[in-house]
Amino acid sequence: MKVHHLNCGTMAMGTVDHCLLVELPAGDLLLVDSGFGLDCVRRPQLLGLTRHAIRPALDESETAIRQIETLGLDPKDVRNIVVTHLDYDHTSGLADFPWATVHVHAPEYRAGMHPTVIERIRYRPDQLWAHGVQWRVNQLSGGDGWFGFEAVRDLPGLPEEVLVVPLLGHSRGHAGVAIDTGAGWLLHAGDAYTTGGAVSDGAAGAFARAMHPVLTHPTLPSTQFRNMRRLAELKAEHSDEVTVFCSHDKSEFDRLVAVG
Ligand SMILES: [Zn+2]
Repeated sequence: MKVHHLNCGTMAMGTVDHCLLVELPAGDLLLVDSGFGLDCVRRPQLLGLTRHAIRPALDESETAIRQIETLGLDPKDVRNIVVTHLDYDHTSGLADFPWATVHVHAPEYRAGMHPTVIERIRYRPDQLWAHGVQWRVNQLSGGDGWFGFEAVRDLPGLPEEVLVVPLLGHSRGHAGVAIDTGAGWLLHAGDAYTTGGAVSDGAAGAFARAMHPVLTHPTLPSTQFRNMRRLAELKAEHSDEVTVFCSHDKSEFDRLVAVG
């Protein structure tokens, strides 16, 4: 399967918004996360006040829909989108693909539907619920093992090479997405960690976690830390089989773009 690595939103300090566009064997397209969309390029106030902290470039040419067009592909062929979680930097572009089925992990959907006061900062109801997004809520049960993680395989309309890997911690229902490309696995770990160093060095991981106290669900930091450790082990022990990367690390993104 051909996989394109797209940066759908340069942000403060040169961080990226790493999304995947996958050309599936059946001829349709899959997106993993949507980045920032046309709506917020035109109306940045939709993102709320926290946009002043993350300072997204909001450049139309960085939106997923424009990048798909630039590649000579048809956005209408995006039939499925899998989101790692519902933070607005991962979901603001969903409105550009109203014809697509959007797969979300069930606990994350529940968090988005019934956010706590703190979660209201991260989930933008006007973007998640106001555009007629076709949600498909995937349950945790029925999973198989995948390199020591539990994986959810029952994603309707998607081939068995695409798995959802629950990686709770950053949010209540945060999940990674694993793709068997035929030339090895890719694991998009979303915001399970924020820099490559965070899953290769315990001190850096603790630092990264400390940097995001608001954006981590208050009851989940220990779960997040445990998952970061497990991802570090996956990187250390299976780097020949699985390429692990997160949403916002520019060096990881640049490396994967370079190898195609
Ligand atoms: Zn993020």
